[in-house]
Amino acid sequence: MTDYLDRLFIDGEWQQSSSGETFPVVNPADGSELIRIADGDAEDMTRAIDGAEAAQADWAARPALERSQILRRAAEIARADIDRLAAVMTAEHGKPLAQSVGELDYGLGFIEWFAEEARRAYGTTIPSTSRDKRILAIPQAAGVSVAITPWNFPSLQILRKLGAALAAGCSMVVKPAALTPLSALEIGRFFSEAGLPAGVLQIVPSSRASRVSPTIMADGRVRVLSFTGSTEVGKILMREGATTMKRLSLELGGHAPFIVFDDADVDLALDQLIAVKMRNMGQTCVSANRVFVQRSIAPDFTRRLVERLSAMRIGFGSEEGVEVGPLIEASAVEKVESHVADAVASGATVLTGGKRPEAEELGRGHFYEPTVLAGATDDMLIARDETFGPVAPIFEFDTEEEVVRRANNSPYGLAAYFFTRDVNRVVRVSEALEYGTVGANDGTISAVQAPFGGVKESGIGREGGHWGVEEYMDVKYISLAGL
Ligand code: NAD
Repeated sequence: MTDYLDRLFIDGEWQQSSSGETFPVVNPADGSELIRIADGDAEDMTRAIDGAEAAQADWAARPALERSQILRRAAEIARADIDRLAAVMTAEHGKPLAQSVGELDYGLGFIEWFAEEARRAYGTTIPSTSRDKRILAIPQAAGVSVAITPWNFPSLQILRKLGAALAAGCSMVVKPAALTPLSALEIGRFFSEAGLPAGVLQIVPSSRASRVSPTIMADGRVRVLSFTGSTEVGKILMREGATTMKRLSLELGGHAPFIVFDDADVDLALDQLIAVKMRNMGQTCVSANRVFVQRSIAPDFTRRLVERLSAMRIGFGSEEGVEVGPLIEASAVEKVESHVADAVASGATVLTGGKRPEAEELGRGHFYEPTVLAGATDDMLIARDETFGPVAPIFEFDTEEEVVRRANNSPYGLAAYFFTRDVNRVVRVSEALEYGTVGANDGTISAVQAPFGGVKESGIGREGGHWGVEEYMDVKYISLAGL
């Protein structure tokens, strides 16, 4: 491991934590310790916010073109190094190398997109009610921002926040997930190499959120908090953010329905289901958690799904051809096991998987086999809570009206998918689903230019497109009189 990966990145320098304490980063595929890194605490976080505040005004005042060029350069440097960055990600997270490369490619796409958006933060002039007045509305950087991110996409979750913040003219302090801090520190390295001024990006890993989050939440200089993670923590941050009235962007949990009508292109639906279910071993907020299949096609669809999932290759993400890596930690496997056990106790049948793999070499990692459950019903745990694992429960349904009602019967509203060849139904169901993101005959909804985000308890705010930058800008109204 490269030497900077064991430090905090504050004021453009790789620093030890003020306490001198460290914590381990572990490879989930075999339980081995990869490295021990500096463990940030309240004092480190205060230094990071001080530095971000000191850098803020100059960064916001720079011409948009200059900010844009630094973003572009950072993406170029990272792209030239993508294989090594992917290896670091796979080591700390477990996902197959091809998925790590894919995540970096997508995440860097956000940096490139926001490099362009930086130059298009337009304002507006509005006709006034008198001859001697003009009305202007100008967007301005909101100030110091903080990103708190989860482990499931160690690089992407940071890049899409950071690109938008930098484009808007905001400095940013990143508190990455304790399980995957190395990919975050790599981002500090390539932005620093690209010429990002010291203090504009600060990275403070910490073994426990409670060491640093009270400092973030109490500090009135932090104007924007962008959080991706669980709904439970999102609600805590919303309450705590009220004290200093922070602008909040919350990308929270999901429980995506995936609906296959009997007039669907079944081959397409099957391919897209496997892609969206098995990416990241099912550990995504947009993963297909409830697979609704219309009754007449359910037996055939389920048989083909079982065939495909049981043939997937499980193993170390660093090995060529592996499609399914480990889950992130032991408790993640236990959660999947509890959901499957509850479903079976309530009448579901395991058609494939439903257990940890038997291969001896996988014994020290957090592996779980791709699993299909038939006969799932809405009262099961798996129908209500995020499983965050490689399990596809099949729920049968009869009518469109019924399936839309059942799909909407969730506190979450992040992503939903449905497959049909009926064009009228495409419009009806797209409009009826209470979700922030809908895939109509599409399971691959990721796009840097689109507004990604949730409704209901899946959060507030949008990432991507011009919406992403707007999360980091305030609109100022200037009333210009005496002309
Ligand atoms: P988590 O909420 O436990 O942790 C996310 C981050 O918050 C981590 O950095 C963690 O250290 C920090 N954190 C935890 N408690 C905190 C507190 N009290 N105050 C401040 N920070 C705190 O979530 P996770 O387990 O890392 O990630 C999985 C969750 O994230 C799932 O619910 C998933 O659906 C959600 N997620 C949502 C999106 C989205 O875009 N909507 C994307 C990916 C993941």
